[in-house]
Amino acid sequence: MKKVAFYTLGCKLNYSETSTIGRMFQERGFEKVEFTDKPDIYVINTCSVTDNADKKCRKIVKEAQKHSPDAFITIVGCYAQLKPKEISEIPGVDAVLGAAEKFQLVDILDGFVKQDKPQVLASAISEANTFHNSYSFGDRTRTFLKVQDGCDYSCSFCTIPLARGNSRSDTIENVVRSANEIAESGVKEIVLTGVNTGDFGLQEGKRVETFYQLVQELDKVEGINRFRISSIEPNLLSNDIIEFVANSNKFMPHFHIPLQSGSNKILKLMRRRYLRELYADRVSTIKSLMPHCCIGVDVIVGFPGETEEDFLETYNFINGLDVSYLHVFPYSERENTLAPDMPGKVSIKDRNRRADMLRILSEKKKRHFYEQNIGKEFHVLFEDDVKDGLMEGFTENYVRVVAKYDPVLVNETKHVRLTGINKESLMEAEEAYAEVLKH
Ligand code: SF4
Repeated sequence: MKKVAFYTLGCKLNYSETSTIGRMFQERGFEKVEFTDKPDIYVINTCSVTDNADKKCRKIVKEAQKHSPDAFITIVGCYAQLKPKEISEIPGVDAVLGAAEKFQLVDILDGFVKQDKPQVLASAISEANTFHNSYSFGDRTRTFLKVQDGCDYSCSFCTIPLARGNSRSDTIENVVRSANEIAESGVKEIVLTGVNTGDFGLQEGKRVETFYQLVQELDKVEGINRFRISSIEPNLLSNDIIEFVANSNKFMPHFHIPLQSGSNKILKLMRRRYLRELYADRVSTIKSLMPHCCIGVDVIVGFPGETEEDFLETYNFINGLDVSYLHVFPYSERENTLAPDMPGKVSIKDRNRRADMLRILSEKKKRHFYEQNIGKEFHVLFEDDVKDGLMEGFTENYVRVVAKYDPVLVNETKHVRLTGINKESLMEAEEAYAEVLKH
């Protein structure tokens, strides 16, 4: 039996796809092993958004060769689609597969026999027009379920549409079927994942279903107690969806909404499809219906043309928003996008300084959000990671709660009262009811 090992860089979508490719190998009789277990085949799933994608890819290939010098090394993923030739020139790489080919990997690389030259099979991105269903099985508690792929937007900093192609989706029927399969395996929480998740429902360029319809159908799936929406563009987060989440017992009061900038001038340069007023409106609608809702925000700082005043406008805008945490990214140039040619380049030093300022703001926001929840009752779904005799889990509204490890609690939901924040900035809790709620 041949052994195969995987390495994933990047986002949740990549993790769900690696997991699916792994299951395909297992169905064909391969044994899935750890990276260091001398596999016969390595599959490295790359990312184009990560900084130094090339350097990271080289490093992983080198490590792979160290652990299994004769292994067949295959590179897939966004970076493989964008730079197939460069990747094929990395010493040790045997095959590079693009977005349209990665799910046929086992068939295409029949037998995984090394050739004189690396095999490069990366069609034009326009060929990547079919949707391939994927979900991850990292642990027993939570699964990332891909419902949508690709993006039809053209944000001026983003290379994802070039790496993943046009927006396309699974059907509601298929997503519900996957959710039922996941429920049967005992997983309690599903995170709906996509490149532009809110754009769900396009089939061959035509809108046949909507994200709102999808959440309504998923809400009826028995056996899954928790759904989260991984990230949704503010212009696609309609009041219908917000109201539905507010009234659902299964969709958690937690949104992650990319803002990117709090300056309308920069939002326009970024080619985002909303202005800051719309964003503020979404946040206030959510909070008026769900005062305890957790809201995460993505922000890019140091975009070309962002002056100190523009940055402060972003800082003050976010400071005034009732949001719970930020993911901050210093702007980084990507080939074949519009932004690098725009005037007003911001120095790396300023990009990092601005990012540090927002990260400090994020800590403050998070602490404030946690403090608002002290004394309140929630349900915590405990996970199976144990560290220093402690385990962790999340409340409905994404407060991370720490507790003394108890094997009985793994993958169980417990009714607790939040008591206070410890030195590690984690929430502590006490039991609200004696019994463990077995959902
Ligand atoms: S919405 Fe913009 S940032 Fe997001 S994937 Fe599409 S182009 Fe990239």
